[in-house]
Amino acid sequence: MFSFKLLANDKAARAGEIITPHGSIHTPSFIPVGTLATVKGISVNDLRRIGSQVIIANTYHLHLQPGEDLIETMGGLHQFMGWDEPLITDSGGFQIFSLGAAKEHGVGKIASIFPYGKNHEGHISSKKGKSLVNLDEDGVEFISYRNGARHRFTPELVIEIERKLGADIILVLDECTSPFHDYEYTSKAMDRTHRWAIRALKEFKRTSFKSQAIFGIIQGGAYHDLRKKSAQFISEQDFDGYAIGGSLGKSTKEMHKVLEWTLPPLPQDKPRHLLGIGEIEDIFEVISRGVDLFDCVLPTRLARTGTLFTKEGERFRMHIRNAQYTNDPQPIENGCDCYTCRNFSRAYLRHLIMANELLAIQLASIHNLYFLESLMRRIRTSIKEKRLAELKKEWFLKA
Ligand SMILES: [Zn+2]
Repeated sequence: MFSFKLLANDKAARAGEIITPHGSIHTPSFIPVGTLATVKGISVNDLRRIGSQVIIANTYHLHLQPGEDLIETMGGLHQFMGWDEPLITDSGGFQIFSLGAAKEHGVGKIASIFPYGKNHEGHISSKKGKSLVNLDEDGVEFISYRNGARHRFTPELVIEIERKLGADIILVLDECTSPFHDYEYTSKAMDRTHRWAIRALKEFKRTSFKSQAIFGIIQGGAYHDLRKKSAQFISEQDFDGYAIGGSLGKSTKEMHKVLEWTLPPLPQDKPRHLLGIGEIEDIFEVISRGVDLFDCVLPTRLARTGTLFTKEGERFRMHIRNAQYTNDPQPIENGCDCYTCRNFSRAYLRHLIMANELLAIQLASIHNLYFLESLMRRIRTSIKEKRLAELKKEWFLKA
C-alpha cells in the first residue's frame, strides 16, 4: 500500500511521490503540524483548499489527551479529525526528551513545544534541576505536563499506540539528544535508539494487520561519525523511510553539515523526513541536500502573533501589527491566491489582530500555509526542470 517513487533529481535535490492508503504526497512536501489532531486555528476544509497534502500529529500529546483508546473507538485518527488524506504520527521522543533536557540543562527554550504555549511553561521553568525523565534500557518514564501523572513509553508500547491512532506513516520511539549533550552521552543515546528501533520494528511486524508504513529515526547529534553510523545502521533495517531527528547543532552551518553527513548514506529509493524545519532560508537548503519531507509549527505559530510570510519582507516576514498597515488597502501579498489575500486587506488583518479577534488566527494561518504550499509547488517544478538553484537565486535576490 505504501510506496515511494523518485521522479526527478536536480543535483542532490529530489522530486518524488509517496503513495499511502489515503492518497499521495508529492515531494518535497511541507507538513503542517496538527499536534492534537488539529492544525491550530484552521479547519481541514481550509487545509484542503490550501493544498496541504499531509498532516503530522503527535503520539505523546494524543496519548495524554484524549488517549489513543478513545480515538480508536471513534474510528481512528483520520475519522476523528475529519481528514481522509495522508497522516503521520511522530512518536513523542522529541517531546519527552526535550522536556527532560530543558530541565536538566536549565534552558526553557528548546522545550517550548507545548500546545498551549506560555500557560504551561511553568512546568519547564528555566531553573536548573533534575530531568523530569527517567530513562532505562527498556523505555522511558516521564511526568505528564498536564497533571503530573507518571507515564511510561517503551518502543513496543509506542507502536501499539500508533497502531490505534492509525496514521499512514508512523515513527519509532527514539531518544532525542539536545545540543547540550556531549559526545559520549550522544553516542550512548544513539546506540540505545538503534536497539529501540529494532524492537519497534519487530513489534510493528508482529502486528502487521494494518497497512501502515514505519519510519526509523536517525540520531547522532552534531557529530560526524555518529551521524554516519546512525544513517548506516538505520538504513540497513527494513524501514519504509527515514526521519532525521535530534540535535542539528547550534547554528544553520552545523545543520547543513549534519545533513551532508546523514543524507548520502541513505538509499535513493526511500523518503527522508527532517523533523522540525520551517524557515524559508532553511527550506531551500534542506531540499537542495536531498530532504523530501519536513514539518514545522512555525507558519501557524507565527500567524498567531501577526507575523505573515511575504516574499519581499525582511526574512520573508511582515509584522502586520506595525502602524504602517493601519489603512493599507492591499492584500498581505500582491499576487497571492489564498482565500485571505483574495478577500481582505492588510488594514482588516491588522484590525483583527489588534482586537484579538479569533478570525485573525484563521486568516493569518491560511495565508502562511498557502505561502509555503505555493513555494513547494514551485520548488517541485523547478527540480523537475533542473533549475532549483535559479529559483533560489530569484527568492534571495532582493530589489
Ligand atoms: Zn495570501
